[in-house]
Amino acid sequence: MTIDTHPLDTVLAAARAFLGDRLSTNASIREQHSKGEDANPPVLPDAVAFVETTEEVSRLLALCNAHGVPVTPFGAGTSLEGHVVPVRRGISLDLSRMTAILEVNPEDMDCLVEPGVTRHQLNDHLRDQGLFFPVDPGSHCTLGGMAATRASGTNAVRYGTMREAVMGLEVVLADGRVIQTGGRTRKAANGYDLTRLFVGSEGTLGVVTKIRLRLQGIPEATTAAVCQFDSLAAAVETVIMTMQAGIPVARIELADADQMRASIAYSRLPYEPLPTLFLEFHGSPGSVREQAGAVEALASEMGGKGFAWAEDAETRNRLWKARHDAWWAANALWPGCRGITTDVCVPISKLAEAIVSAKEAAVAAEQNTCIVGHVGDGNFHCVILFPADDPEGLEKAWALDRRIVAQGLALGGTCSGEHGIGLGKREFLEQEHGPEVLAVMRGLKASLDPRGILNPGKLFLN
Ligand SMILES: Cc1cc2nc3c(=O)[nH]c(=O)nc-3n(C[C@H](O)[C@H](O)[C@H](O)COP(=O)(O)OP(=O)(O)OC[C@H]3O[C@@H](n4cnc5c(N)ncnc54)[C@H](O)[C@@H]3O)c2cc1C
Repeated sequence: MTIDTHPLDTVLAAARAFLGDRLSTNASIREQHSKGEDANPPVLPDAVAFVETTEEVSRLLALCNAHGVPVTPFGAGTSLEGHVVPVRRGISLDLSRMTAILEVNPEDMDCLVEPGVTRHQLNDHLRDQGLFFPVDPGSHCTLGGMAATRASGTNAVRYGTMREAVMGLEVVLADGRVIQTGGRTRKAANGYDLTRLFVGSEGTLGVVTKIRLRLQGIPEATTAAVCQFDSLAAAVETVIMTMQAGIPVARIELADADQMRASIAYSRLPYEPLPTLFLEFHGSPGSVREQAGAVEALASEMGGKGFAWAEDAETRNRLWKARHDAWWAANALWPGCRGITTDVCVPISKLAEAIVSAKEAAVAAEQNTCIVGHVGDGNFHCVILFPADDPEGLEKAWALDRRIVAQGLALGGTCSGEHGIGLGKREFLEQEHGPEVLAVMRGLKASLDPRGILNPGKLFLN
């Protein structure tokens, strides 16, 4: 008589043979892998696998595929739309121990890294070589997670997002096959662009085990500035005029008065609680002066209250750390509150309308919000605050989130400029793209992951 073993038990027994105690069913480790930084309900995976090599990923995926066990890739778990919640349980595949920087090629300005490397680790490694990696989300996330979410940050207006930064990938497919996509040349017209397909695929098409990244030279001169305004509309109009004038700002970030109140308290910023632009200019000393002068003139036309310059590296670092800490500052605005965030991105000409109408919707819903944004790209986050552990408050916050997204879509925008779809924005994917495009996306998913084991339940509603 044969004993019918549960597929999960078969996979765990076989995986333990090559992962040993790096395959964990410990309750607190499973709990750490049950959610990201969002407010979606957590789900415990059955086990967590801490992989260290491509071969281990390949063997594990082949096993899970053969037995139909779900696998949810996990980088640092900082994503904001329920991406890492293992809604169908199975295995959470933790790639954070794959931290080798395998190559840096200064002459060609590229590098090859494993997916668990963080952007901070990469930049520390690059500093002595006059190079830097510009994509800078405000979290301690991994480059694998950033590739998988097509992340960006404050530098995207000048240097692009992960879409531009990733030159090639090593990907393990659902059945365990390992493929290399892209290459090291600056251009290539050599068939389907699979790199771009995997970038932003949120762990639903394959597991990224190596990433080739484009690097940038550290600019000769860098200057930062802060400019405050009496109205949100004036600050946003300054951004629009700056972009339309073609001034190559490296960073142009907005915080509304509520976000400034939060950041002044949290990061001890020496400014007023007024709508504020944070700017940075990169280039030669002359071009930096010229760019800054041009933006200062536009800002004063809009009633901006002069520029507070931050020229030394220490002041600049403090300023950008405060900007990167904006989410934590908003979440600390009053004891016991927490936030969810929108991620609408609109064509630049519609930015003022989108931001002002988001704030009006929040006021009408009697909801506390902080707005912060990578406004040079038309992308802003409305952090909607509610009392933590209040399910009704969370529902109300999500209702406002949906309203702001609908307003963004009506202006020709997208529901997500950088955070991705995950669980939270699935309802908008079809609205944005239409049923034919969704059918093509589902076809790609079915062809690369026919058993649907990779991060199931994400991107598509069912
Ligand atoms: C305070 C704060 C600020 C943030 N600021 C920004 C910002 O400015 N810009 C921005 O874009 N985002 C931002 N985010 C969101 C988040 O940091 C990004 O989405 C980031 O790219 C997620 O990386 P991670 O390593 O945490 O990935 P995870 O959260 O672990 O995973 C994210 C997704 O990628 C998949 N995944 C992870 N690793 C791999 C891999 N190796 N192969 C295949 N799939 C994989 C997962 O399955 C999941 O679907 C912020 C988040 C926080 C909390």
